[in-house]
Amino acid sequence: MSTNDPAVPAVDPTPTASLDFVREIVAADAAAGASIVTRFPPEPNGYLHIGHAKAICVDFGVAVEYGGICNLRFDDTNPVKEDVEYVDSIKADVHWLGFDWAGREFYASDYYERLYQDAEGLIRRGKAYVDSHSADEIRAHRGTLTEPGIDSPYRTRGVDENLDLFRRMRAGEFADGTHVLRAKIDMASPNINMRDPVLYRIRHADHHRTGNTWCIYPMYDYAHPLSDAYEGVTHSLCTLEYEAHRPLYDWVVRECEAAHTPRQIEFARLNLNYTVMSKRKLLQLVAQQHVDGWDDPRMPTISGLRRRGYTPESIRDFCARVGVAKKENVIDIGLLEHCVREDLNKRAPRAMAVLKPLKVVLTNYPEGQVETLAVVNNPEDATAGTRDVEFSRELYIEQDDFQEDPPKKFFRLAPGREVRLRNAYLITCQEVVKDASGAIVELRCTYDPATRGGDAPDGRKVKATLHWVSAAHAVNGEVRLYDRLFTAENPESAAEKSGQTFLDLLNPASLDVLRGCKLEPMLGTAPAGTRVQFERLGYFCADLDTAPGAPVFNRTVSLKDTWAKVAAREV
Ligand code: ATP
Ligand code: MG
Repeated sequence: MSTNDPAVPAVDPTPTASLDFVREIVAADAAAGASIVTRFPPEPNGYLHIGHAKAICVDFGVAVEYGGICNLRFDDTNPVKEDVEYVDSIKADVHWLGFDWAGREFYASDYYERLYQDAEGLIRRGKAYVDSHSADEIRAHRGTLTEPGIDSPYRTRGVDENLDLFRRMRAGEFADGTHVLRAKIDMASPNINMRDPVLYRIRHADHHRTGNTWCIYPMYDYAHPLSDAYEGVTHSLCTLEYEAHRPLYDWVVRECEAAHTPRQIEFARLNLNYTVMSKRKLLQLVAQQHVDGWDDPRMPTISGLRRRGYTPESIRDFCARVGVAKKENVIDIGLLEHCVREDLNKRAPRAMAVLKPLKVVLTNYPEGQVETLAVVNNPEDATAGTRDVEFSRELYIEQDDFQEDPPKKFFRLAPGREVRLRNAYLITCQEVVKDASGAIVELRCTYDPATRGGDAPDGRKVKATLHWVSAAHAVNGEVRLYDRLFTAENPESAAEKSGQTFLDLLNPASLDVLRGCKLEPMLGTAPAGTRVQFERLGYFCADLDTAPGAPVFNRTVSLKDTWAKVAAREV
C-alpha cells in the first residue's frame, strides 16, 4: 500500500473545543436574544482566494452556528475595476465551498440613492461639506502620524452652498476630481481616518450595474457601514486592517442616524507562504500571462484550487484549523496540502499511472495472454469496491524505479534483482536492452507464475513494490506537475529587500508538463474534476482540458511532503 504519512505541519491540527473570540461575542449576543446577521462583502474586482475562503467560513459559519443568516453583499463602489465576470465567479466559488446566502444577494450599488440621501442628511446637519481642493491638496493637508492636519478653507461652507454643490456634482456639472464630499470630523484627530475623510468623489465612469446613472460614487468607508446598517447586519466581521477604520464606521452609522447599529469586529487575515494574495498582484499574474488565468492550478484562488483538485471539505477543514484570532501570522502551505491529502485519502479511488515509462517485457509470459486482476479501489473505503486491471507480457514501469548500477539504499528494480509488481507478480530483471546511444530502451524480465497477487508461496521477501500498467491496454495521457508558484517564502518582502519585484521571484519550475504518460485505461474517459490517487505518486484530478482518449491530469498534491526535504538539502 502506498503510504500516506505526510509530515504534520507545526500547527495544532486538533480543533479546540473552546470558542474563538468572535464566536464568544456572537454567542453572548445570541444568548441575550439577538438574531444574528452577518455578511460576506467582496468587492467584485477579482476572483476569490484562499484568504477569502477563511472570511467566508467565518461569516457564513458563525451565522449557521448561531441560527442566523449571512448576506452576500457585493461592495461595488468602484466602477472602474469591477466586472460581472467577477460577480459570477464569486457566487460560484461561495456555493462550491458549501455555503448559501438563501437569496440574500445584495449590492452596495442598489443603495446608491439611499446613500446619497443620507449624505444630504449629513450636509443638512452640518456634518459634511464639499471640498473643492484637488486630491493632492487634500493629501498635503491631511498631516502625518505625528502632525495634525490643516482645515480646508472650504470646511466652513454653509449648508445651502454645500447642498447646491453636492446636487450639481450628482447632476454631472463638474469634471472628475474638481470636488469631493468630506465628513466634517476632526482634522487634528490622532486617527488619520477621522481627519475629514472623503465620502464621495466624482467619477464619470460606467458602472457594471448602474450604467451611467451616477457620476458620483461613495467611498468604501461610507458605503460599507451604511450597507451593513440597511441590511440589519449585527456583526460585521472583517480583517484587522479595518481596525483603525472602526471609529469612522461607528461615526457614519451614528451621524447618519441609521435605524440599526451594526458592530464591526476584526480578526487576523490569512497569510500563506510561497504565494501572494493581494488581488492586485493576482490580477497582474493573470494579465501578464505568468499563469494560465485566474483558475490556473498554481494560483491561490478558490477556482485554481478547485481545478487543481482540492475539495471544498479540505479547504473548510484548513480554515477551521487555522482558526480565528487577533494576531497576524503566516500559515505554512504544507498545512493546506496536509488537509487535502487527508481528505483525498478517504475519498479518492486508487489507480495506476506511469509518468515516465520504461518498457518491461516478461520473457516467460505467454505471448497474447491477458489476465484480469481484481484490484481494491480504495483500502480506506470498503464501499469503493474493486476494479479489473489487465496484466500482460509487455508492461510499463517508471524509469525512476530502475537503476542499472543501484546505490546502496536503492531497493527498487536492478539487474538480477526481484521486486513486486503491485497486485500482480514478483518479477526479476534479467537483461537491460539499450539503443545505439547507450540509452535504456527496455528491460527483459521473468515473472514467477506462483506469485499471483504479489506474494511468494515460499515466503521470500522483496524490498520494493512498483506500480505498472499493461502496455497494450494503457492510454496515453498528459500529466501536469505543480510546484510552489514562488521561490521565496514571502515573495513581497523578499522582493523588497533585494530590490526586485515579486514577479522576479516566480518559480520557473512551477509547472512540469509530462506527455506520453501511460495511464490505466479507465482514466482515459474520466470526466474533468475526477479525483484519483495514482499509486505511489500522489493525488491527481482530471483537468478542464481533459478529453475522452486524451486525458489530462493535474497533480493536486504528492503523497509525501518532498518540499521540506528538497529545501533542507539546498541549505
Ligand atoms: P483588496 O486587496 O482588493 O482590498 P480584499 O482581498 O480585501 O481586496 P475584498 O473583496 O475587499 O478583498 O474582501 C472581501 C472580504 O474578505 C473582506 O471582508 C476581507 O476582510 C476578507 N478578506 C480578504 N482577504 C482576506 C484574507 N487574506 N484573510 C481573511 N479574510 C480576507
Ligand atoms: Mg478589501
